[in-house]
Amino acid sequence: MSANEPDSDAAPGALRRVEELINTFSVDTGTDALTDPAALAAWLAERDLLPETVAVSAADLDRARVVREGLRAIVVANNTPASAARKTDDAARTPAALADLAALARELPLVLDPLTTPPTLVPHTPDTPDAALAQLLADVAKSVADGTWSRMKGCRMCEWAYYDYSRNRSRAWCSMALCGNRAKAQAFRDRSR
Ligand SMILES: [Zn+2]
Repeated sequence: MSANEPDSDAAPGALRRVEELINTFSVDTGTDALTDPAALAAWLAERDLLPETVAVSAADLDRARVVREGLRAIVVANNTPASAARKTDDAARTPAALADLAALARELPLVLDPLTTPPTLVPHTPDTPDAALAQLLADVAKSVADGTWSRMKGCRMCEWAYYDYSRNRSRAWCSMALCGNRAKAQAFRDRSR
């Protein structure tokens, strides 16, 4: 966990585990909580994403990291001022993390389960490491559908994921005390140059 971890901004529902996945890596400190396949297996089991008995490989860990960094790129983009947002049709400027996730997502199929109310997207084949990653992508799709996704952001300073509960959705940093002040100090330095 980062020293920047704020306290009262855990995302609602299943979006929380998406937030927690992104925050298994701190861009600020370079610390990765998913140190090895066993750590990933335990992380997934704790969140009911994968039975404890299922083996997780080094390749699965690589795929989890691709999902994590792709989702980080999306939530950071969610927090970019409209004036600075990249053009979505500008493929050459697509972050590598997003391109990697786009390629991997094709191998993580979701299908509609009509037996739930309402029908939900679920992984094509349950109880595999890929299914756990597909479920996290399904959680994102559900969040987009219910309107919560636009509040899922990556800090403009440190890329820590947080849920923006502010009334006007204007929160820019994981923590005003930490990154908010860092941003102000940086702006001050830029002005006085
Ligand atoms: Zn931050």
